[in-house]
Amino acid sequence: MININENYLKLKSSYLFTEIEKRVTAFRDTNPDKEIISLGIGDVTKALPRACIKAFQRAVKEMSDDNSFRGYGPYKGYSFLRDKIAEIDFNCRGADISPDEIFVSDGAKCDTGNIQELFSLNLKVAVPDPVYPVYVDTNVMAGRTNEWEDGRYNGLIYLDTTEENDYVPSLPHEKVDLIYLCFPNNPTGATIDRERLKNWVDYAKENNALILYDAAYVAFIRDSSIPQSIYEIEGAKDIAIEFRSFSKTAGFTGTRCAYTVIPKKCMAYDKNGNKHSVHNLWDRRQTTKFNGVSYPVQRAAEAVYTQEGQKQIRSLIDYYLQNAKVIRKAFEELGYKCNGGDNAPYIWIKTGKDSWEFFDLLLNKANIICTPGSGFGRCGKGYIRISSFNSQEKVKEAVNRIKTALR
Ligand code: PLP
Repeated sequence: MININENYLKLKSSYLFTEIEKRVTAFRDTNPDKEIISLGIGDVTKALPRACIKAFQRAVKEMSDDNSFRGYGPYKGYSFLRDKIAEIDFNCRGADISPDEIFVSDGAKCDTGNIQELFSLNLKVAVPDPVYPVYVDTNVMAGRTNEWEDGRYNGLIYLDTTEENDYVPSLPHEKVDLIYLCFPNNPTGATIDRERLKNWVDYAKENNALILYDAAYVAFIRDSSIPQSIYEIEGAKDIAIEFRSFSKTAGFTGTRCAYTVIPKKCMAYDKNGNKHSVHNLWDRRQTTKFNGVSYPVQRAAEAVYTQEGQKQIRSLIDYYLQNAKVIRKAFEELGYKCNGGDNAPYIWIKTGKDSWEFFDLLLNKANIICTPGSGFGRCGKGYIRISSFNSQEKVKEAVNRIKTALR
């Protein structure tokens, strides 16, 4: 008999998207003539930028010739890409990150999910609530949690992220070891200012903690006072890992390229108190379990950093931000309190109702799909998340329907 990893039996949260699917299918069955518009999508809808496509095609051509063909690539990614990342995403913003501290990967989901395996099962792990479920579920799978009670796993420390703290978690009263932060945030659309990010960096330094900083939506930041990287904050290199992705930045959700920065100064300790480089541990893990990202995909990602690429990704993101603006304005005019959508693709809306009740209302009266906030955690109760990833035509139509249905 093969015994399973019983931690998998503790997992609860796939409920959200299955339940949405169930309700949408039931609606379609009884209303086959109604055209549904989804504002629940966490996936991009627009094609790859031209600069990326051209680089992609050139690289595929190289693969067709024995003289330019490439086999297994370097585990950390090709230096042509890591050099550009270090220079443009970090050094140009005053963050002193070297190409050698960057690991190119196939997704921020895998990296934010896998990173926890470097650390002891006894750590105190803090996650925001509401939260991108990957941080929680991977800790459940690893065995860092106990039973599920009242919408939360015992064993994790939840950082309430609410209207009262501007959707930026306050510092915990107890000592925690591993802290997941995500800005711009999924699902709340919140960003963090320099001062509050510095408070987190200082907390981590004082408590020997490590911050896992997910900046997958960084390309949406338009306000120049908002930090784009945690390494813009002094001292962060000692205590933070940062995750980035080309998924939302350049429409790579189906192409797959991302990267993780682990500064060489970042240390963790064994049971005898000896220091170990987290960078080296991750390097060891990746060389064993990860094959790298394909050469053409890395060439396509490199093209993001050309002048043409930078211009094209800006207009790509502007397109979604324009959608977000239209959606937020419509809900605000209807009297709803909204967060996000200005430096993030998501709008977090306080509905004044149960999240699922509001979901049903939008589905039945406007034929619009949203994402119930309660699916992201207890603090999401009463909220919905609306995504700006759709065509401007569909968003316009959706907004008209919402205005008619909710007025
Ligand atoms: N981090 C957050 C907060 C996300 O919302 C997502 C995708 O929805 C990801 C990471 C995943 O990024 P990737 O496509 O690079 O795996």
